[in-house]
Amino acid sequence: MTRILIVEDEESYREPLVYQLTREGYEVSAAATGEEGLELFTHGGIDLVLLDLMLPGIDGTALCRRIREQSRVPIIMLTAKSTEIDKVVGLEIGADDYVTKPYSFRELLARIRAVMRRNQNAQQQGVAGDDDVPLVCGDIVMHVGQHQVTVRGESVFFPLKEFELLEYLMQNKGRVLTRHQLIDRIWGADYVGDTKTLDVHVKRVRAKIEEVPSHPKYLSTVRGLGYKIDEPSD
Ligand code: CA
Repeated sequence: MTRILIVEDEESYREPLVYQLTREGYEVSAAATGEEGLELFTHGGIDLVLLDLMLPGIDGTALCRRIREQSRVPIIMLTAKSTEIDKVVGLEIGADDYVTKPYSFRELLARIRAVMRRNQNAQQQGVAGDDDVPLVCGDIVMHVGQHQVTVRGESVFFPLKEFELLEYLMQNKGRVLTRHQLIDRIWGADYVGDTKTLDVHVKRVRAKIEEVPSHPKYLSTVRGLGYKIDEPSD
């Protein structure tokens, strides 16, 4: 059974979530503070964390980092304002995904299932081993099944959305993908958020794969159209 840890100080969010997730068949632990959340997590057996950004004491970003120091467990951030999204995606906190309050339970459930699926695939492929053919572009090597990326020989961690963005671009190496195609594929056709989100993710991916992110050799912007990844020309 999948165990979900909810760290949320607002009872009006926490209690319905515990109820709804339990009804969906999940085993749920809930904490109202970051300290309590960390304690429950450290105790073990947690398969996924729903983490509120604004918490008294240890806040969501700090707790996310603390959890990442010891685990690759999927983490979905819950943010109160869309302006806080920048804080989640802009900082290197290692969350896999985020939802903005007020979120619909169905949307949250879809995100939970998506990150769990990705995580299970990664684990299964990790066991299955060597028939995972990597995606290669120059010095970037991507083992999709194992959720692993190496850049110039160094292993680099990509949160889920950045990983999916890089994967989709690498699968289409040398081809321009429109902004619409990318948003559709990574965030879903019914995505209603800010289109700036795509640019923020591109920026984050560039920071990880490019030697000089301001002069990208791999991930180029095709003005008025979209983005493309290709082998460096020199
Ligand atoms: Ca809060």
